[in-house]
Amino acid sequence: MTDPDRNELDAVRAAFNEIAADYLGRVDDLPALNYDAAREALAGFQRSLPSEGIGAEAALRELYENGLPATGTTSGPRFFHWVVGGSTPAAMGADWLTSLLDNPSYAWVGSPLTVELEILSLEWLKDLFGLHEDMTGVMVTGASMANFVGMAAARQWWGERHGVDVSEDGLVGLPAMPVLTSGYVHASAVKVLSLLGVGRSSVERHTRDAVGRVDLASMEASLQALDGAPAVLMAVAGEVNAGDFDPVDEMADLAERYGAWLHVDGAFGLFAAVSDRTAHLVRGVERADSVTVDGHKWLNVPYDSGYAFVRDREIMAKAFAYTARYLADPTDSRPVLGGLGPESSRRARALTVWTTLRAYGRVGYQRMFERHLDLAREMVELIDAAPELERLADPLLSVVCFRLNPGDLSEEELSELNHRWSVLIFEDGRVAAGATEYGGQIALRPTVVNWRTRSEDIVEFIRVIRELAAGLR
Ligand SMILES: *Cc1c(COP(=O)(O)O)cnc(C)c1O
Repeated sequence: MTDPDRNELDAVRAAFNEIAADYLGRVDDLPALNYDAAREALAGFQRSLPSEGIGAEAALRELYENGLPATGTTSGPRFFHWVVGGSTPAAMGADWLTSLLDNPSYAWVGSPLTVELEILSLEWLKDLFGLHEDMTGVMVTGASMANFVGMAAARQWWGERHGVDVSEDGLVGLPAMPVLTSGYVHASAVKVLSLLGVGRSSVERHTRDAVGRVDLASMEASLQALDGAPAVLMAVAGEVNAGDFDPVDEMADLAERYGAWLHVDGAFGLFAAVSDRTAHLVRGVERADSVTVDGHKWLNVPYDSGYAFVRDREIMAKAFAYTARYLADPTDSRPVLGGLGPESSRRARALTVWTTLRAYGRVGYQRMFERHLDLAREMVELIDAAPELERLADPLLSVVCFRLNPGDLSEEELSELNHRWSVLIFEDGRVAAGATEYGGQIALRPTVVNWRTRSEDIVEFIRVIRELAAGLR
């Protein structure tokens, strides 16, 4: 007697309420990770497909009680790995409502609210980030797919410059599409070029040092050599190792001079626009042809939430055009969002975005962002005061790049030591921060982007990783 039943709903709601209260009461204190507990908990899930189910409430409670030890506390205050963001109270509530309503965001026929709030929220985001008012946005799963949208539009534009409608006729017969960027290019932006049939090898990295800073003279020489053939420039606003920026304005000058397409991947770095302290870093972004931003990073909305903006709406619409009579009535002029991005059925991502922007406004986000900059400064001071820690970059945002350097080891030994340290930090699990390679050196690059993070979490983070370092040698 276990098929879905209305009579289960009250119990599910009550159980969820209890679960939420329990989790929210503990999230500040849970370890970032616990691999041993995770292994044990996951073993409990290993069973074959049940024939008879146990009902909704029991299954939900089993998921939470048995599953919690195997979760990472990515929504907590001391998970500094990657750029994971958190979920503001407003966004979290709206995400629950999103699941409750279970509306797609596609056309009025499915839900007028989700469609119109998506359009409105994207306008608000353009305003927040200082993007050009003519840009058309679309919500996607994250920055990887936003890069996909930007590069699909760029490919459409580039094909038309060669007299080919790529969305209609494909790439056959065309030369390689040149994509000129710096060493800061994100792995996902290269990946989408493989998905689009452009190929990873079409990426030219113009760098002037081991860290990957752009060499504009070399980029310009390459544009000159193309002799008028169209090219795509890709700038990164906020690279993952130290939060540095390509010079967007100068790359916009190059794009203008040589008639190139400019894409800006500002997955988390575009947030620099919200504060006078950092807005200069993204100067020129209003001149871009396409822009990528993530919501599940600094906007602190739950996964999955990313935004692509394209200046030329017609090019964007051509790249994603499709139709079927059952999907949309051709005589209905109201918006159909499936035609501006890769997905048809789409989660109503705008509900969290609208709610969090309505709840906190421009000023609330500016305050949170500046608090994160200050917390990164506190981390810098603690690192600089620790004799065995060596900072590798001055953070422009809230990514702090540093390594363990006891002073008497070769570069090779240092890399090996820092790798072992990073593995130990995850095995310990009280805090989370991972290793990267920065200018050939293995280093940590913790990032502060969660509204929950406080000064005491920064102190605890540094205390724990120093304690683990002391036990290493
Ligand atoms: C995080 C990030 C991405 C990928 O974003 P996802 O949301 O994980 O797909 C792309 N570019 C940059 C610069 C990033 O920081």
